[in-house]
Amino acid sequence: MKITAATEVLAIFGDPVSHSISPLMQGAALSALDLDMVYLALRVLPADLESAVRAMRALGVRGVNITIPHKVAVLDYLDDVDDTARALGAVNTILNSNGTLKGYNTDAVGYMWSLEGETGFTPHGRSAVVIGAGGAARAVVYGLATGGVGRIVITNRTVSRARALAEELSAVCPGVEITALSLGSPELAGIMEKADLLVNATSLGMGRRGDVDVPIERLAPDAVVSDIVYTPMDTDLLTRARGLGLKTHGGLGMLVGQGAKSFEIWTGHKAPVKVMREAAVQALGPEGG
Ligand code: NAP
Repeated sequence: MKITAATEVLAIFGDPVSHSISPLMQGAALSALDLDMVYLALRVLPADLESAVRAMRALGVRGVNITIPHKVAVLDYLDDVDDTARALGAVNTILNSNGTLKGYNTDAVGYMWSLEGETGFTPHGRSAVVIGAGGAARAVVYGLATGGVGRIVITNRTVSRARALAEELSAVCPGVEITALSLGSPELAGIMEKADLLVNATSLGMGRRGDVDVPIERLAPDAVVSDIVYTPMDTDLLTRARGLGLKTHGGLGMLVGQGAKSFEIWTGHKAPVKVMREAAVQALGPEGG
């Protein structure tokens, strides 16, 4: 790419950030559309977050992604946030419109976009089991609940976190039945028999560490198994699910989906998702990182 005096700046703020594949994924999208913008990975320490966000105005930075550990803290430094970011209490995207900084969260919509697009899953009135109660699970449950899923059971190793999340999101999505259960509860098998979707939203399986120990053989034959872990791209959970003839959905879809939605917020152009996916796959390598 050619950098000119008119080139606009996009970036990701995080710590650590050197492992991020977003610069390659967003860079490929900018090139594909021939946009005069550059996307950089900038390491921002927690103590410097406020000044880094303020610098967006001073330097005219068009937009940024926000990653670990700043997604919650950054809310204090913005002029406005969208409904999803407010409900999730976390921001992963900022748009600078003439000095006004607005925060968005594209994780939930990115997840739903890839789940529906890749598997044909129709959320309306369906039942889901989500394993995990951390930041990613929060986005997934919110995406499912606002996307039309009727019943969601959140199961987590630390059941108090699952309960807190279920309570919080039930208040935000009053028409949806959201309940909590301890991971390993004997009740889980019966609940899985009635589920249309199982999501692993924990870090289990990342780097092939740990096993998602739930009875997937109890799922109905037309159920979908979704894993948000993308390193490796093909987790043991997904391999087992495919072995049972179940439809599967990998974490790369959410990664590309959230990036595509951020790209559209900054540029106003439809994201070239195929190009972004190819760049992500290439960046992660044959084993998926
Ligand atoms: P987090 O906030 O730290 O939450 C981690 C979750 O994993 C918690 O529910 C935790 O349970 C559970 N967990 C961790 N180790 C466990 C174990 N040994 N046994 C049972 N449960 C365990 O992390 P996060 O931000 O939600 O991220 C979770 C995963 O999602 C990571 O692998 C991340 O890479 C992935 N992710 C993917 C995307 C994507 O675009 N595909 C986006 C965001 C995150 P406790 O509450 O009991 O500790």
